Amino acid sequence: MASKNIYPIGTLPPLGEVPQYMYAQVIRQDRLGEPRNAFQIEEMEVPEVAPDQVLVAVMAAGINYNNVWAARGVPIDVIAARQAAGDTRNFHIGGSDASGIVYAIGSDVSNVKIGDEVVIHHGWWDRNDPWVLAGKDPMIAPSAKIWGYETNYGSFGQFTIAQAHQCMPKAAHLTWEAAAASTLVGTTAYRMLFGWQGNTLQKNDVVLVWGGSGGLGSIAIQLVRSQGGLPIAVVSSDERGEYCKKLGAVGYINRKEFDHWGIPPHWTDTEGQKKWSKSARAFGKKIWDILGERRSPAIVFEHPGEDTIPTSIFICEQGGMVVICAGTTGYSAMVDLRYHWTRQKRLQGSHGTNDQQAYAYNQLVCDGIIDPCLTHVGRFEDIPQVHQNMGEGTHAAGNAAILVGVPERGLGKK
Ligand code: NAP
Repeated sequence: MASKNIYPIGTLPPLGEVPQYMYAQVIRQDRLGEPRNAFQIEEMEVPEVAPDQVLVAVMAAGINYNNVWAARGVPIDVIAARQAAGDTRNFHIGGSDASGIVYAIGSDVSNVKIGDEVVIHHGWWDRNDPWVLAGKDPMIAPSAKIWGYETNYGSFGQFTIAQAHQCMPKAAHLTWEAAAASTLVGTTAYRMLFGWQGNTLQKNDVVLVWGGSGGLGSIAIQLVRSQGGLPIAVVSSDERGEYCKKLGAVGYINRKEFDHWGIPPHWTDTEGQKKWSKSARAFGKKIWDILGERRSPAIVFEHPGEDTIPTSIFICEQGGMVVICAGTTGYSAMVDLRYHWTRQKRLQGSHGTNDQQAYAYNQLVCDGIIDPCLTHVGRFEDIPQVHQNMGEGTHAAGNAAILVGVPERGLGKK
């Protein structure tokens, strides 16, 4: 089977010995579309490290929604985008979450060494970018990228390339697959909740978490609770709501009880507006019922986008923030400016993570304060189908991971 002396999946070469070839789940442009077809296992050359990079043998890879987008080529074809920037490669090896072992380091790397057990965060930038050199938030730099989505050689190969600053210690008490499951969603949620000065999470704040049982939501609930906030989940079933309560939500709203989703009627349509605000008000009242007092969310944790933004802006507390990191249901979100400006609310975009936020999140995981919510473990061959399920919304609550260099689940705990 291994025509190029490739180590089988579930095995590793001796520490520090880097083979020439590896297996990877590869997306190519002529396969863009349904994830189940877009990914295929191919034999690929193991890449070389640049001076500021490390090569990590992937033990387990976490699954995220971004490679559903990469497989579909929507909203962008990531291969074409890289080629437009001068990259000649015609493939995408995705995967923005990994646990693994450092196998090679670049000449400038001093924070990790061969043999270190690490997890990798998804913030990537050019260390010589003037914005980064000026000491500003590197995730806003023109060169900032999401590792394993906008960069090649993510974690869906036996070896991955990361910048050294992305590497963080693997939590000793976690298995390889649990350690791989939550860094992307967790660090993103951390930035959303703690990254935006003036509206950072405070003790006793009410936080509405859309998709509370999903990847981002399950970690956001725990983060809010761990800082003394009051998370309220929005879900599509009572079963998912109960899952959120176990994670620390003070209550949940089943969104299936409402139908005012999407772009609301135009403000000149008086009757339509009346009907819309009646339903949005009833949704907001659910929050007060859960709390037992008339308090609105200081932070609304958003990612569905088009379907939910009007409601999020409507129910957010005066001076509060709707913070959004995606538009899973669409990008044409409508904001009724009356509620936005008169009540001085903030609609804040948030993307990725910087080092300080990622390290703070990883410490909470290492300390056992945040559980990665691993609910599904698959095989390397399952990567296409797991993304297919995620794209169709039929995946399990919580987070999923795939075994790559590790032969079976349950290994890696110290
Ligand atoms: P996920 O695990 O699939 O969870 C998404 C949740 O959204 C689901 O659990 C679902 O819960 C809820 N949902 C689905 N349709 C909805 C609708 N019409 N209205 C309201 N809620 C709906 O995905 P995830 O990992 O949390 O990621 C969510 C989005 O964030 C993705 O688009 C992903 O690409 C993006 N993201 C961005 C960043 C970044 O750095 N910018 C980082 C991580 C993720 P219910 O059906 O129970 O309501």
